[in-house]
Amino acid sequence: MAAVICLDLEGVLTPENWINVAERTGIEKLRLTTRDISDYDELMKMRLEILDRNNLKLSDLQAVISTLDPLEGAVEFLDSLRAACQVIILSDTFYEFADPLMEKLGRPTLFCNWLVVDESGRIVDYRLRQPDGKRMSVRALHDLRFKVIAAGDSYNDTTMLAEADAGILFRPPDNVVAEFPQFPVARDYQTLRSEIDRNLELLG
Ligand SMILES: [Mg+2]
Repeated sequence: MAAVICLDLEGVLTPENWINVAERTGIEKLRLTTRDISDYDELMKMRLEILDRNNLKLSDLQAVISTLDPLEGAVEFLDSLRAACQVIILSDTFYEFADPLMEKLGRPTLFCNWLVVDESGRIVDYRLRQPDGKRMSVRALHDLRFKVIAAGDSYNDTTMLAEADAGILFRPPDNVVAEFPQFPVARDYQTLRSEIDRNLELLG
């Protein structure tokens, strides 16, 4: 069947980059993620301001991220899913951060965003590929006559989940579950895979 699975990255296959940067630098406010703040621009502006104030450069963040590993079981889950159907990772992360973890995940297709970095390596801004890019990617796949099953953990996934033929929350925080009771919740890879397989069958 012509179906594509769209997966969020952080919180689904990999740890949250920013939480790890917060832990490594001791800057508590960098712990806030899309799981806590629904306005992505507000969140990013706050992060960039904090980086500046602490004189943290792109290379400092890359050094932390390069030490991270995919979540336990993520590589096996993704390998087995990719053997069964096409998978695209739809993320609000940045290509400048993604490489080490993409390598560890076997280099799946990734649609995400870009950072704007000056000659000193300071992150001055960010560029979304397009507004609401996760949802727009699902819409484009629909235009290509694919059915789409999507899974994510946060606020920034909910428009993607709504646009998909089936949307699944994976290990979401309680506030997201409470606000979006229409989506089924999976808390481990086995349940997520069963939910995906069940929907593939329904859509077939
Ligand atoms: Mg996420």
